[in-house]
Amino acid sequence: MIVVAGAGPGGLVAALALQRRGFEVTVLERSPELRTAGAGLLLQPNALAMLRALDLVDPIAAAGIVMESAAVQDASGASISGMPFAALTPRFGAPAIGILRASLSGVLAAGLAPGTLRFDAGVAGVRQGDAHVEIDLEDGTTVTGAALIGADGIHSRVRAAVMGAIEPRYSGYTCWRGIVGLPHPAGPRRMVERWGRGNRFGMVPVSDATTYWFATANTAPGGIDGDDPIAELRARFAGFAAPVDDVLAATPPEAVLRNDIVDLAPLDRWTDGRVALLGDAAHAMTPNMGQGACQAIEDGVVLASVYDPSDPAGSLATYAGRRRDRARMFVDRSWSAGRMGQWENGLACAVRNTLARWTPGALVERMLVEQWSVEVPELR
Ligand SMILES: Cc1cc2nc3c(=O)[nH]c(=O)nc-3n(C[C@H](O)[C@H](O)[C@H](O)COP(=O)(O)OP(=O)(O)OC[C@H]3O[C@@H](n4cnc5c(N)ncnc54)[C@H](O)[C@@H]3O)c2cc1C
Repeated sequence: MIVVAGAGPGGLVAALALQRRGFEVTVLERSPELRTAGAGLLLQPNALAMLRALDLVDPIAAAGIVMESAAVQDASGASISGMPFAALTPRFGAPAIGILRASLSGVLAAGLAPGTLRFDAGVAGVRQGDAHVEIDLEDGTTVTGAALIGADGIHSRVRAAVMGAIEPRYSGYTCWRGIVGLPHPAGPRRMVERWGRGNRFGMVPVSDATTYWFATANTAPGGIDGDDPIAELRARFAGFAAPVDDVLAATPPEAVLRNDIVDLAPLDRWTDGRVALLGDAAHAMTPNMGQGACQAIEDGVVLASVYDPSDPAGSLATYAGRRRDRARMFVDRSWSAGRMGQWENGLACAVRNTLARWTPGALVERMLVEQWSVEVPELR
């Protein structure tokens, strides 16, 4: 049996892909149910190509919104640049999909064999023997497997058990997220990100009548919101043109999530014998490129495609070798994009926006093609 720790997008896809190859899998999830927090996600064509191998693109599209374009604007709403998702459809199939995290988890979990998911099963420690891995759970029980996939997120216990403590890096900015019962103000199939000075505001449709928004601001780490986060956000983003204030005003304060944006400095190793890390546990990145879950999904399918029960450690090392450079590229690019996106100096922001406006569409398209082109392995 292969044990997966964590039922986020990475762990669920790894489990689905391993089961597709006929392996027995258990997913240990610390929470009492599938986590619904995390608002919305954008799934890009590289992740969708992997999900197509699991026949999951249609149900995911049905549970979310297929996006045709993305626009970057300044705080006044003037255009800075655009991404033609739909124009690249002939090459990549489904363009990007906006979806609630809860809806994605639901679709993924529904494809698992009955009894795969174990809730209230937090991993506390890991011991490796010659022929197996023993996983100690927080409730004092032990699970034994041939291999352990640590898909337990940025603060991974599995990683800590096999590699020691690694502190995430604080990016310098915090992100608030919310879901609001409003159709997307920029049209039903278009996402928008607005760049201010030291702050950004984005809106992504996740259903015909629901919009997911995110807002970033440069702050010291560890801040907490007062009783009325919406009032504080409306004051912070007062300089942003409509519909930002309307979107915030329509959001129930209790629906606001706040997270300091952190990532992991690239790790040299993702595996230790029969234990492999996957998704945020291996390569948490800042959300600036919308690729964290997409990369976790790529990990899951690649890992499953190379897993060899006659050589768990060797095949897990092969998985890490295939995935590390690409994931690292997104960690680095996301970090740099976030730094630039959070500039405060007025002149620097004006230069940034002008350079982005002048960037030829063909160059933007070439970058997207590079990011989205993945080889989809066979799951046989
Ligand atoms: C503001 C923001 C916006 C983002 N937007 C996007 C986007 O648009 N597109 C995109 O692709 N990515 C996006 N991301 C990144 C994305 O959310 C993560 O990269 C993705 O969720 C990682 O998936 P994962 O399965 O590796 O880990 P997680 O989603 O973190 O899941 C880990 C799971 O492990 C469980 N767990 C934790 N500890 C234990 C334990 N000890 N034992 C058992 N289970 C445990 C957790 O409860 C959780 O269910 C965004 C992130 C942020 C912060």
